[in-house]
Amino acid sequence: MKNGKKLIVANWKMHKTQTESLEFLNFFLNEIKKDHDREVILFPPFTSLGVISKHLYGTKVRLGAQNIHWDDYGSYTGSISGLMLGELDVKYVIVNHYERLRCEQNPYDKMTNLRLKAAQRHAITPILCVGETQEQRNADETEKIIDTQLSNALSDVDLNNLIIGYESIWAIGTGESCKPSEANRIIAWIRKQLGKKDIPIIYGGSVTHSNIKGIMAQPEINGVMVGSLSLDPTSLARIVNF
Ligand code: PGA
Repeated sequence: MKNGKKLIVANWKMHKTQTESLEFLNFFLNEIKKDHDREVILFPPFTSLGVISKHLYGTKVRLGAQNIHWDDYGSYTGSISGLMLGELDVKYVIVNHYERLRCEQNPYDKMTNLRLKAAQRHAITPILCVGETQEQRNADETEKIIDTQLSNALSDVDLNNLIIGYESIWAIGTGESCKPSEANRIIAWIRKQLGKKDIPIIYGGSVTHSNIKGIMAQPEINGVMVGSLSLDPTSLARIVNF
């Protein structure tokens, strides 16, 4: 991060009603250290954004959304625009999470690029997810795949308002995380490819209490994206307080 803080991205995916979201928040805000030095961002489902936004007012915790459409308005059933997110004080958005790609066609095509630009147009920082499948990793194609993902996505995108999420797809939700040293090596490589030393790059994929220490100790890794473990306030607070 520009302010040097490590990022903790809590991606709830399709979990928590509004009531459950508020219950989480009541516990979580009490359990995190008041003087923690992290940029903590919660990514609830769209239906909880409004209620969480109100309750985060005056706290250090920020709000993010799990997806964004590239237009501001239009006949796009089921989509949400950056204009709508901005009104809810959403400051970050995940773009191209692997679980979304499975629902959409032409994942790394023009639409990814347009989504990144739509976020930036509304002063929302996009987190662009990149990463390889198990087969691609086995075939030693990780760098090649990520290179294609980056060059397709980033044409004319402002690198000063962007976070990259290196998400080894084979590690998402599997309990088998990438070795901290391997994630560090790939993230260093991504940073070099982008030619920008201060771009924040985080790691995601089965982050737990047992591997968080090793991951956070890596010099190239600016934070983590946490899925399963972020659903429980005590578990997430332990990661933040670490
Ligand atoms: P996980 O999810 O922590 O459950 O592996 C990570 C992610 O989707 O980014």
